[in-house]
Amino acid sequence: MTEILRGAPVAHALEEQLAARIQHLQTAGIQPCLVSLRVGERVDDIAYERSAARRAEKNGLITRQIVLPEQVSEHVLLETIMQINDDPLIHGCLILRPLPSHIDETRICAALKPEKDIDGITPSSLYAVFAHQNKGFAPATPAAVMKALDHYQCDVAGKHVVLIGRSLVVGRPLSMLLQAAHATVTMCHSRTQNLKQLTQEADILIVAAGHARMIDASHVRAGQTLIDVGINWDKSSNKLVGDLDFEAVEALAGAVTPVPGGIGAITTAVLIEHVVQAAERIHASTLNAV
Ligand code: NAD
Repeated sequence: MTEILRGAPVAHALEEQLAARIQHLQTAGIQPCLVSLRVGERVDDIAYERSAARRAEKNGLITRQIVLPEQVSEHVLLETIMQINDDPLIHGCLILRPLPSHIDETRICAALKPEKDIDGITPSSLYAVFAHQNKGFAPATPAAVMKALDHYQCDVAGKHVVLIGRSLVVGRPLSMLLQAAHATVTMCHSRTQNLKQLTQEADILIVAAGHARMIDASHVRAGQTLIDVGINWDKSSNKLVGDLDFEAVEALAGAVTPVPGGIGAITTAVLIEHVVQAAERIHASTLNAV
């Protein structure tokens, strides 16, 4: 019988663990605060911003939303980030991306103070992930995948994980987190040849390619654990679908994450955890005195 690895129980378990830590901060007079910084009015950005704020507020965090017009200059955006960096009441900042094409996104990411970088976008956060250092913050989506594997007691140590997608947001940092947990990782991407052969060899197959239903029954082997990071709008069915052809692979898989309701449901809970951790690090001496 295939186990469906839903995201909600993972997010709830994480929130339960966080409740006492948030209470501890509040008792010390610290209100953990998440700020989101959005440029323009992209529908996806607004949806993500709202879902992060809703979850943060439900868990007792303060939230602020900063919205700049689509045509904002890089200079003004950098100044806004400096204000966030200098504001002692803000503990974590989520910059919604991609930014408009006239903005140098690498420069913007590098401007954020690493202590407030809850989505792992600064060079020093990414270095920590790549050097297997327990500093900074991993990007939220790769961290959400690791939470899901941990929650469902899927030990990756010594397992062969095949990962499709090598973006800096998902695939590459996730490969580092998996290796830090002692997995053997095979990276696949758009130029990979014999993809089906590689995916069939996996103990755990993780797909983050951004192509609706690209992995079908011919790619998988019975009993595999399948993790779907993809979120795609399927025009033909008018619904959100993953990179897995869920109906085709479900019966074969040992365990599989659904879309929606899988990894995406964990990501905002991870962001909340990172804000709490950022506040704890920033106020460590105050907390020790309580
Ligand atoms: P991206 O476009 O930056 O990267 C896609 C990667 O997939 C690339 O490395 C590319 O080489 C690889 N790829 C593309 N087509 C392929 C193919 N046919 N065969 C093998 N590899 C192929 O995308 P991204 O930002 O990494 O996002 C990937 C997916 O994850 C998207 O669907 C995105 O919406 C989703 N996503 C989900 C969350 C979440 O919270 N669940 C967060 C971020 C991204």
